[in-house]
Amino acid sequence: APLPNRPVPRPGVTAIEAYVPGKSGAPGGHKVYKLSSNETPLGPSPAAIAAARATLDDLALYPDGNAAALRTAIAERYGLDPARIVCGAGSDELLSLLAYAYLAPGDEGLFSEHGFLVYRIAILAAGGVPVVAPERDLTTDVDALIARVTERTKIVYIANPNNPTGTYLPFDEVRRLHAALPPHVLLVLDGAYAEYVRRNDYGSGLDLVLEADNVVMTRTFSKIHGLAALRIGWMVAPAHVADAINRIRGPFNLSAAAIRAGAAAIQDDVHVASAVAHNDAWLARLTEEVRALGLTVTPSVANFILVHFPDAPGRSAAAADAFLSARGVITRRVVSYGLPACLRVTVGSAEANAAFLDALRAFVRGDH
Ligand code: PMP
Repeated sequence: APLPNRPVPRPGVTAIEAYVPGKSGAPGGHKVYKLSSNETPLGPSPAAIAAARATLDDLALYPDGNAAALRTAIAERYGLDPARIVCGAGSDELLSLLAYAYLAPGDEGLFSEHGFLVYRIAILAAGGVPVVAPERDLTTDVDALIARVTERTKIVYIANPNNPTGTYLPFDEVRRLHAALPPHVLLVLDGAYAEYVRRNDYGSGLDLVLEADNVVMTRTFSKIHGLAALRIGWMVAPAHVADAINRIRGPFNLSAAAIRAGAAAIQDDVHVASAVAHNDAWLARLTEEVRALGLTVTPSVANFILVHFPDAPGRSAAAADAFLSARGVITRRVVSYGLPACLRVTVGSAEANAAFLDALRAFVRGDH
């Protein structure tokens, strides 16, 4: 065959459906309530803002390529060895780096049906083959995952709790999954929403990472810590996995502002506690009030709810999205997650939640 007349990406790259972030604007000059990306309404810790600002005084020098101040602060907060912590430009970057390091072309990466979209993108970008396990009740099904492990499986991702469903796996289920995996398969536990969960049978998986040689946990500063704009994620991993990721990551993958703000944020337990308390109160209340309107809400342990709409003209998720957006209430359609009948709604400020409930009530009443 003749050579192409311009550079052509390999087929795995063009097979990727690009990640489309949640909308952030609304038409018609409405006040905007952005409930589309699971950000916290409380914003960051004041100490984190001050720390980020202070870095603006010296922008000429490279940041610390080892993000030592941040890794030390995380290690102290969770009682970990800083050598086993690797930071990333958001946990997205770490989820991708793990695929790049552990998947050779044709190797399989496994995740569950409504799992976070970045897993598929990362696996394809690494030249791997995405393998999807079905779920039960919109929840990760450990048996279905185990049944899809083959000789080519190298990495398994689970979000716990999962986005966009808000459901979780109890710790004994995570352990059962781990026990069934061959020791060369890397299990990635994505704990982006771990801080929000208030269930006795939930564990982030930290204990498993510390015991096992093939388990990694990723975490983020984008959700409970309110620092999504700065792009800060971290993972705790066995030393050999941390070593592999340190070999392939960008040498300065976190900005100075990210390092400093993250270190300040993780020490502000009071701020985190108020974010958890706000979420507890509003998660329950939003769930109840939406159900009272006759809509189904998947039980969530995270900082968002998944609302199900009937498949009827004028009453569908698409119609609700248009109606809410026109009133400045921005939620997230999750068609690309295979959930065309649902909207995902972030727990917002008291004002934003009230605006959402008012608009949804008007929609259900049929004011359109
Ligand atoms: N994992 C899950 C389950 C998420 O929902 C998100 C945010 N959408 C991330 C990881 C990535 O977050 P970040 O890159 O901001 O750390």
